[in-house]
Amino acid sequence: MNCIQQQFDVARARMETPGCTQVTHLDNAGTALPPATVTDTMVAHLRAEALRGGYRAAADAAPRLSAVRESIATLLNAGSADIALADSATRAWQAVFYALPFRPGDRILTCRAEYASNVIAFLQTAERTGVRIDVVDDDADGQLDVADLRRRLDERVRLIAITHVPTQGGLVNPAEEVGEIAREAGVPFLLDACQSAGQLDLDVERLRCDALSAPGRKYLRGPRGTGFLYVRPELRERLQPVVLDLHSATWTHPDRYRVRESARKFETWEHNVAAALGLGAAVDHALSWGTAAIEERVGLLGRRLRELLSQVPGVRVHDQGTRRCGIVTFTVDGVPAAEVHDLLAKADINTSVSLPEYARYDLAARGLPALVRASVHYYNTDAELERLAEAVDRLRG
Ligand SMILES: *Cc1c(COP(=O)(O)O)cnc(C)c1O
Repeated sequence: MNCIQQQFDVARARMETPGCTQVTHLDNAGTALPPATVTDTMVAHLRAEALRGGYRAAADAAPRLSAVRESIATLLNAGSADIALADSATRAWQAVFYALPFRPGDRILTCRAEYASNVIAFLQTAERTGVRIDVVDDDADGQLDVADLRRRLDERVRLIAITHVPTQGGLVNPAEEVGEIAREAGVPFLLDACQSAGQLDLDVERLRCDALSAPGRKYLRGPRGTGFLYVRPELRERLQPVVLDLHSATWTHPDRYRVRESARKFETWEHNVAAALGLGAAVDHALSWGTAAIEERVGLLGRRLRELLSQVPGVRVHDQGTRRCGIVTFTVDGVPAAEVHDLLAKADINTSVSLPEYARYDLAARGLPALVRASVHYYNTDAELERLAEAVDRLRG
């Protein structure tokens, strides 16, 4: 462990992160602390807008702005034409999901870990179109059971949509195996990578996903109000965006228009340029550390925190799966999660609470109450993890 930590320059990571001097930030699955370069990039652009006007500032920043999609493409091993920017991961996901045609009796296969917003969209679409939602079982380790996924496949399945890493636990779902099964069956595979982007080394060729959505503010350490979408060209060509404007299409004749060919057909014209540039800076920053190195360090800290918390009497850790990541969820006997969270916040330790209604197929089905979520990032230290464990120990009185 020490040997790996010496290789990872934690001191530099902390020096580049102003928030590290203010708080013990263990809510990286909610919003991670941005490195100074992200904030500086955004502030510089806002100043340029104030001094030269928004359109001039955007024109001056045009090369850097188009480089943002290239950086995201590099992060995912995709082409930059396959990337669309969005103002949240949910919007990015919706842009593909709502563009898919469904008929009565069609089926969507999803997983127990699926995120509330995605399931709400499934339910709304089921009401509108008669599509059926089918939740694949977990295996004994609590991850998506790939054998059950295979069993449920038939000619009526129109979509496999799963969450890679859930908001409510340390599980990493076997997305590569799901991608292989989806590819064999010729079914589109939509991957929610909200918690894996910036935490795990992602590669859309290895994952074989046809579309992937992620936010900027979580493990990527980017600004709020940013997200992005990857769409494989073969799927993109088949989909007509639900909404079009003069950015996603061109009004070519009085009675005709032409839709853009790249993934940018899922964008609309107006957007927060400072935030997009900040997202680019965040992705470049992650690439400069290397996503494999980040994955290794975050995984190590996650394991360490689970170990520390398991040693505290009355604490139960609830993470599942054979492969686990930097998200650690736990309960403290006799103290509700919201109270644990608030007491920790008073000690300047940032955590979050995962409510059963964020993931009813998972938490509610397992009969779990709200959980405290502590999510580590590469800039966290062993000392910070010990501080959390000690604070939790004290709070039992
Ligand atoms: C946070 C999260 C989302 C939503 O991302 P937004 O950027 O808030 O839209 C979706 N899925 C999962 C698994 C998440 O953790």
